[in-house]
Amino acid sequence: MEPASIAAQLRELAMYYELDGDRHRAFAYDKAAKSIDATQGLQRLIDEGRLEELPNIGPSTARVIAELSRTGRVAVLDRMRTQWPSVVIELATLPKVGVQKARKIFKSLTPPDLDAVAAMCRSGVISELPGFGKVSEQKILQSIEERKLNGTRVILVEAEDHAASLAHHLRSDPAISRVEICGPVRRWCEVVDVLAYAVMSKDRDRERATNDVANRLAEFGLVTSVDRSSDPLVGFVAGGLKCEIHVAAPGRFGWTMIEATGSRAHVSQLRERAVERGIDLTKLDADDEALVYRALGLPWLPPEVRDGTDEIAAAVAGDDFSDLITLDDITVASHCHTTESDGKNSLVDMVRGAAERGFDAITITDHSANASYANGLDLDRLRAQAADIAALDTPDALVMHGTEADILEDGTIDVPPEMIGKLGVIIASVHQRYKLDEDGMTRRVIAAMKQPYFKIWGHPLGRLVLRRDPIAVRIDEVLDALAESRGAIEINGDPYRLDLDPENVRRAARRGIQFVLASDAHSVRAIAAVRYAVGLARRARLRKKDVINARPAGEVIDLIRPNPS
Ligand SMILES: [Zn+2]
Ligand SMILES: [Zn+2]
Repeated sequence: MEPASIAAQLRELAMYYELDGDRHRAFAYDKAAKSIDATQGLQRLIDEGRLEELPNIGPSTARVIAELSRTGRVAVLDRMRTQWPSVVIELATLPKVGVQKARKIFKSLTPPDLDAVAAMCRSGVISELPGFGKVSEQKILQSIEERKLNGTRVILVEAEDHAASLAHHLRSDPAISRVEICGPVRRWCEVVDVLAYAVMSKDRDRERATNDVANRLAEFGLVTSVDRSSDPLVGFVAGGLKCEIHVAAPGRFGWTMIEATGSRAHVSQLRERAVERGIDLTKLDADDEALVYRALGLPWLPPEVRDGTDEIAAAVAGDDFSDLITLDDITVASHCHTTESDGKNSLVDMVRGAAERGFDAITITDHSANASYANGLDLDRLRAQAADIAALDTPDALVMHGTEADILEDGTIDVPPEMIGKLGVIIASVHQRYKLDEDGMTRRVIAAMKQPYFKIWGHPLGRLVLRRDPIAVRIDEVLDALAESRGAIEINGDPYRLDLDPENVRRAARRGIQFVLASDAHSVRAIAAVRYAVGLARRARLRKKDVINARPAGEVIDLIRPNPS
């Protein structure tokens, strides 16, 4: 069993203990789940019996984790599940309900599922329970209806973990011959509202096949409910994320994958095209996607562009998207932090890490002095770091020394003037005073862009996906200023940022602005996060020529070096 599933099952256990009134154990399992989420190489620690070396993991949690990892289940969880049916967990994970209310509702009324709870809300039964009123009843009903409609939304990096665990579970069923992760995860969407799969059964009888797949889905430890009557099959995992399983008819896997992957608009445009051409897509014998697209007179379209905007028109006009930027094109690991500021690994480790991941060069850009919360570097420390880099003994990758400098409130870039001519790269980012109004923020960013040494705008809009809104700027004005300054935009691959978003990337690309795809790595492991930047760039249809760090490292050095004046 994969770490994400183990963590989720520990969280489920925590919830049961809380339902049982055992706060102490609930707290312990919750913290253990956090440790598992943060751990690399979990399997090795399990194999070597070293789980207890992790923070928040004692002997009994270690036993539970080892058991889950080996067999996918553990007796205590099975027992808890019979004691507390899934409706309690579904209720407890709804926003505005929580464990205590879920417990009261279940203990007094034993509803079989969320639909029953919704009916009880409508008839006013819930508001008569002690501790509940009309207002909380209304809120519970609203939460259930929203969950029914939308499920939950999660960020891509979380969705990927869940998607992989469920795919693994489906694949281990001997009756299932093929499982592909589709949907928004395959399209690299930064917010995921559904885990979608295309699945092929060995059973050629469609009804039996669908039934088997539904059974398999229901057996997954994290699945709380399955709607067998819907097509595609719909289930919900603990926490409320929706999953959709499209079961392919024999020989028709191609269309099933396309249907499970594309945005609704993309799929319906293809359907219209099929009607125009007199093709019945559900009867088209095609085991792969390319055959289906070909039948529709189109090239195979990369999943990232299947957003239902104008990709089909572009393809008809001759674009086959075969030259979109790829991870392999990226030569320079850009925007990396070390222990000098708030990174977890040393300069030497970061350089080696970049080389081991196939990059020819790395930019070391720790925070600037103004970022005191991140231990930013002043002039002396920046000089000392330059000396450390110069003294590296035959580094495995070229090292460009730079800084990630704060754009201060008045638009000043926080870099010591003495160092401007000596640094290989300056990334200018907004880190504080996010809440300036649109006028103030637009002025601030444009003032920074007017500095002759402005070269790269770091995590431009400062958003955190689903957690913090982008800064308020008049984006067209800012992009015009940037195009004039000949600066570049960073596409930040930190999975919590994913900034700039594809729509604005396209706005910038139309002005001829160049991009740097960055990992904003605070550890060796996070260097790989540049893959998310590549995902965003492909959704915005960027090509290799649009991306500075897809050129040979020697050229990149010249392109990003700040002009002193
Ligand atoms: Zn930053
Ligand atoms: Zn950074």
